[in-house]
Amino acid sequence: MDTITKEQRSRVMSRIRSRDTKPELTVRSRLHAAGWRFRVCDKRFPGHPDVVIPRARTFIEVRGCFWHRHGCARSTMPKSNVAFWMAKWSRNVRRDKRHEEEWSRLGWNVVIVWECALDAERLERTLLSICQALDAWAAEGPRRRPHRLVLPRRM
Ligand code: ZN
Repeated sequence: MDTITKEQRSRVMSRIRSRDTKPELTVRSRLHAAGWRFRVCDKRFPGHPDVVIPRARTFIEVRGCFWHRHGCARSTMPKSNVAFWMAKWSRNVRRDKRHEEEWSRLGWNVVIVWECALDAERLERTLLSICQALDAWAAEGPRRRPHRLVLPRRM
């Protein structure tokens, strides 16, 4: 029996077209304006990272706070079907973790951008942090221990 609410369903449906979401487009357009060239959802890498920037050996992943359980105010708890959601979230979180491990094994840097880092009041700071990190990492070349930047820095 299907008991998810209409609101939950529309949330699910809106996330099914998970590529080219608005937060991701915001990040991409800024990167492009800053002169970075990248590939999107590159199938050659595990987990098809959202944005791949070869020059800085960096993967950027834009993560929805609700779906990937950031723990911020957006990680709301639905009132019904809790078991369904918990199972789904735990799969998402496990998959995210596995991909991050695979990426760092490749020796590539990783930027995780939580959706809430792109809220109006944090957007500029977030985009600036990404661009500064990319500049530094591109200049530095490959490292044995890749960088990992998570935004926002504080929840
Ligand atoms: Zn969040």
